[in-house]
Amino acid sequence: MTLELQGIGVSRGIAIGRAHILFHNQPDVREYLIPAFAIEQEVERFLDAIEQAKQQLKSIRNHIPANAPADVTSFIDTHLLMLNDSSLNKIPVDMIRQRRCNAEWALQLQRDALINVFNEMDDPYLRTRRDDVDHVVNRIHRILNDQEVQDHEIPDGRLKGHIIIAEDLTPADTVLMQHQGIVAFVTEHGGATSHTTILARSLGIPAIVGIESVRRYVQDNEPLIVDGETGVMLLGADEKTQEEYEARLVEFREHISSLSRYKSQPTKTRDGKSITLLANAELPEDITTISAAGAQGIGLYRTEFLYMNRLTPPEEEEQLSAYRDVVEGMNNQPVTIRTFDLGADKTVDGGRHLNQTVVTNPALGLRAIRLCLNQPNMFRTQLRAILRASAYGKIKIMFPMISTMHELLQARHLLEQSKHELDKEHIEYDHHIEIGAMIEIPASAVCAEMFARHVDFLSIGTNDLIQYTLAIDRIDDHVNYLYDPLHPAVLRLIHMTLSAGKKHNVDVSMCGEMAGDPRYTRLLLAMGLENFSMHPNALLEVKQVINETDLSQLPANTMEMMDAVDPLEADMLLEQINGPDH
Ligand code: PEP
Ligand code: MG
Repeated sequence: MTLELQGIGVSRGIAIGRAHILFHNQPDVREYLIPAFAIEQEVERFLDAIEQAKQQLKSIRNHIPANAPADVTSFIDTHLLMLNDSSLNKIPVDMIRQRRCNAEWALQLQRDALINVFNEMDDPYLRTRRDDVDHVVNRIHRILNDQEVQDHEIPDGRLKGHIIIAEDLTPADTVLMQHQGIVAFVTEHGGATSHTTILARSLGIPAIVGIESVRRYVQDNEPLIVDGETGVMLLGADEKTQEEYEARLVEFREHISSLSRYKSQPTKTRDGKSITLLANAELPEDITTISAAGAQGIGLYRTEFLYMNRLTPPEEEEQLSAYRDVVEGMNNQPVTIRTFDLGADKTVDGGRHLNQTVVTNPALGLRAIRLCLNQPNMFRTQLRAILRASAYGKIKIMFPMISTMHELLQARHLLEQSKHELDKEHIEYDHHIEIGAMIEIPASAVCAEMFARHVDFLSIGTNDLIQYTLAIDRIDDHVNYLYDPLHPAVLRLIHMTLSAGKKHNVDVSMCGEMAGDPRYTRLLLAMGLENFSMHPNALLEVKQVINETDLSQLPANTMEMMDAVDPLEADMLLEQINGPDH
């Protein structure tokens, strides 16, 4: 029987594959190649961890009160027996030596093998013992994780073709898993504009968020169908349904390839208005997709992904090389590099190298430009790298989440300092590099005129602008239904920013998800937006809408959208704007 679960479709596309369930406490384990000379050291590290795990358990046992149920002690004893068993203290050692891999990875492979054996047992009691394996393995992992992570990370194909089922995923997880060939993901939490889902869209991975307790319904390795548009996930699909989805998958691919005819066309409305279409980039490898989609440049390069999945921030030379690759890859088209927007849902290794503490409202806390200014050395390293890369192509610098003039002036001051340093060192850079501010806080939109006087361009970040205007956590699926780009307050703030740009002759672009949603393209054109920046997979669809729009024919009441307090009225107006007879 087909079981259908409904969530929020956040990244379009159909995926057919097998489930890989991630459990909350499962450590994030990666494989590293260990150099030959360090193998015995790695074995030592593993055996030490086993020894420490035993000591921990013995100490726990010594503290169990005499009147505690016998089960408690026997549970500890079972774990101690496991640690003394060759399946845990010898086989991983052999693996480290044979595969030249890190201890964590060897342990994880052995854990998976043991779990598979338990999964096949018919006896329900014995099947529960797999939890014991997990507990013991997690204890060893925790001990190992207190030690330095090794370099030489190499990708692994274990997840190829799988659909990830998880409670939640961080952007860092998503990047790692994409490298491992996953075909979709489904999570219990998350919102349509969380950074994880933005990443999924930009990577073209179908995704659904907000299916409560999804991990309870799915078995590891079970065949699944995911529709990232409707938010439907199917389990146990019958043959007819399976065929239907296979046909839809083919149709979807055909639709995507039919858009390619727009690639070489200029972006221009039917009545001749030229529009600039730019792409958002997260990872250096995005350049290939961006070039293939025919973008006119990069309107937002989210540099924070360079800081993820590592223990120390990237040095100047490493950043220079990444930025240089991007700007050279774009063949002289402009690249807008945003300084690191870390914090909130984009933490790096639990904030360890930033000494970040847990705060109540991370989205309202030390993130983006606030964090840049709080970590001046790290910020200066990035500014120098961006400036140096500007010698190799057209680069613009953009500061995220500007809320006060003081922040903007301070950031500019640090940039000037970096320029002086480079002058003294006789290092080349573009002396006329353009500087922009993101408008993603309501206060900045209201005061956009003030900021427009001090920058070369503004860029509207609708993801955060909507979050902060409507007080909706963008990663919380419980309030996702309130996330509304058409709310008149949001539209008015966008309009204010566009007007401020016009008045001060400063370019305004939009780089939030709203810019890449073809349902809003005509409305934004009517409001005066001329620069759109979006994930590359959306470019051709938006271009299709632009090239089929005659601005002079848009309904006279288009701007009434800004007064449409009733969402139903807003939907009706939008339908008219997007209708065939506009
Ligand atoms: C935005 O907030 O709209 C934006 C583009 O920035 P980010 O999504 O990276 O916060
Ligand atoms: Mg933002």
